Order: sequence, then C-alpha cells, then structure tokens
Amino acid sequence: MSSCLFCRIAEGEIPADVVLRNNDVVAFRDVNPQAPVHVLVIPIEHHANVTELSAKAPHLASKLIDAAAAVARSEGLDDQYRLVFNTGADVGQSVFHVHAHVLGGRDFAWPPG
Ligand code: AMP
Repeated sequence: MSSCLFCRIAEGEIPADVVLRNNDVVAFRDVNPQAPVHVLVIPIEHHANVTELSAKAPHLASKLIDAAAAVARSEGLDDQYRLVFNTGADVGQSVFHVHAHVLGGRDFAWPPG
C-alpha cells in the first residue's frame, strides 16, 4: 500500500469528494477549503511536484491543466479562477504528490500571502 496520501485517494483507498475522474487524473474537493470553490486536481501517476511532472510526463501536465479548466467550468466559475501549484515546503507544499489547486467563487488579492 502506498504511503502517499494522494496516491491512496487516487486508488480509492481513502475517501474524497471526487468531482472528476478519468484515466489520467482525479479532482476532489479540498478538506480545508480556502474559497467557495477549492478543488485539487492530481495525476493518478505519482510525481512529487509540477517540475517533476513537466520534466517526466509533459503529456500528463497538459491533461492536468485541461482537467483544471473543466472543473472550473463545471463549478460555474466562468473562466474566473486561480490555479496554484505550491512547489516546495518553503512556499507551502504539504503533500508531495503534484496537485493543482482550483480556487474561485470570491475576489482574490495580489500578491498572494
Ligand atoms: P499543499 O499545501 O499545496 O501541498 O496542498 C495540500 C492540500 O491538500 C491542502 O489544501 C489540504 O487542505 C489538502 N488536503 C489534505 N488532506 C486532504 C484530504 N484527505 N482530502 C482532501 N484534501 C486534503
């Protein structure tokens, strides 16, 4: 059994509120939402972060972004959303299986804190 939390969610071993699933990616609601819509999109295949994903599986990086856009659409965000890849503990990455945060449904400040 994998020790990676998001691999276990992808395999269905840990329950999640899944909003999209296909052969390559799974999208599920964040347990600690930071906006009215806060969905995480992950590749089923394990990669630690977006740098590794882009280097080793660029086709999956593209599918991940396509899925994020599809989630934004299905959540009614009307192309008004923020897509975040925290990359490295210093900037807030806490789960080391690459995930895109799809955030929307409220106004956002810039720069991010
Ligand atoms: P990051 O800090 O960028 O690595 O994001 C990890 C995200 O995963 C955080 O926003 C957490 O709230 C979220 N998270 C942690 N465990 C779960 C879980 N079991 N189901 C859904 N989201 C989770």
